[in-house]
Amino acid sequence: MFSELKFTEAQILDYCNSVTPEAVAGSLEKFRCGYFDLLNLISPAAAGQVAAMRKRATAARRRYYGKTVSVYAPLYISNTCVNSCKYCDFNVHHQAKRRILTLDEIRLEAGAVRETGIDSLLIVAGEDPKHMTVDFLCETGRMLRKLFSCLALEVAPQDEADYRRLFAAGYEGLTCFQETYDQVLYRELHPAGPKSDYDYRVWTQLRAGKAGFRTLGMAFLLGLADWRPEAANLAAHAIYLMRECFQSKIQFAFPRITPVSEGFQPASPVGDAELEQLMLAFRIVFPECGITVSTREAPDFRDMIVQSCADNMSAGSRVTPGGYAVLAEHDAAQFTLNDSRSPAAVYAAIRRNGQEAVFKNWDSRI
Ligand code: SF4
Repeated sequence: MFSELKFTEAQILDYCNSVTPEAVAGSLEKFRCGYFDLLNLISPAAAGQVAAMRKRATAARRRYYGKTVSVYAPLYISNTCVNSCKYCDFNVHHQAKRRILTLDEIRLEAGAVRETGIDSLLIVAGEDPKHMTVDFLCETGRMLRKLFSCLALEVAPQDEADYRRLFAAGYEGLTCFQETYDQVLYRELHPAGPKSDYDYRVWTQLRAGKAGFRTLGMAFLLGLADWRPEAANLAAHAIYLMRECFQSKIQFAFPRITPVSEGFQPASPVGDAELEQLMLAFRIVFPECGITVSTREAPDFRDMIVQSCADNMSAGSRVTPGGYAVLAEHDAAQFTLNDSRSPAAVYAAIRRNGQEAVFKNWDSRI
């Protein structure tokens, strides 16, 4: 439970199950939706009105983002991790080849990404305080900001003072998935390591926002728990951040669990129709916020959802350190990719949909 949310998971489910088709239609007619409209739109009753939701979301998306789709790539710089997340192949107990890229290797990887036209880079690393230090991340940022107009981070949560240093080094986006807002389940899935501290993780975006980060990425991992209470918690968390960090932009993602080698089975899998309903609801209620569609999704789903909801997508992603240029073979990926298209194929699909791939919509170097 997000601590500022005053309702329990059971109360949220009771509310969602009591929503009528008329209440859903009422939410869709509003010019500006609020928290309870989100609950209406993720309710079982709204599943019968997805066509109307799609129309409303497409209009909202068009109003804020036009026909543009921002593209970016993740760059994994390490797969060492001291945490024991049960759903991830980077966890400390998993027998896998570990690799921490050197600055020269990172430069090589980044150069290969830049050649594809990508100008926005997300630096990803496992949580490894001994090797993946703030000093190293700052050095990496100072090097990469010369190549890319936009740099974001998805690494171990840091204190506000360290976020200030990272921001000064060139990073302006911060992503941290809460994984689950169910604190009992959170403890079960994260039994050891720094990530077992739910509270420290849940306030990550707040610390980054106070330190000046321009975009704050957030998500829960779909499949771990019932998606409706998780979505309600994510929305409450976002509303809180919008108030406290009003100068930052919220960027939502909706990653579904994909198979990992140790065979973790999601307790509450989310189907395509439910995922679409969820994303439509967030686009309608939070029209100004960014929405990223993950490479965990198949090409057909990505090409469809990028027209009605998502404004941001990765292209040609590799989720192995060294996967773009350094390695001949790809090992120890964090999760399974379902869209293996090249960047050029992704850009072509965006054009086929009558949209335009945007490589640069911000330049922190100016
Ligand atoms: S999810 Fe992140 S923190 Fe957890 S084991 Fe994987 S890389 Fe480490």
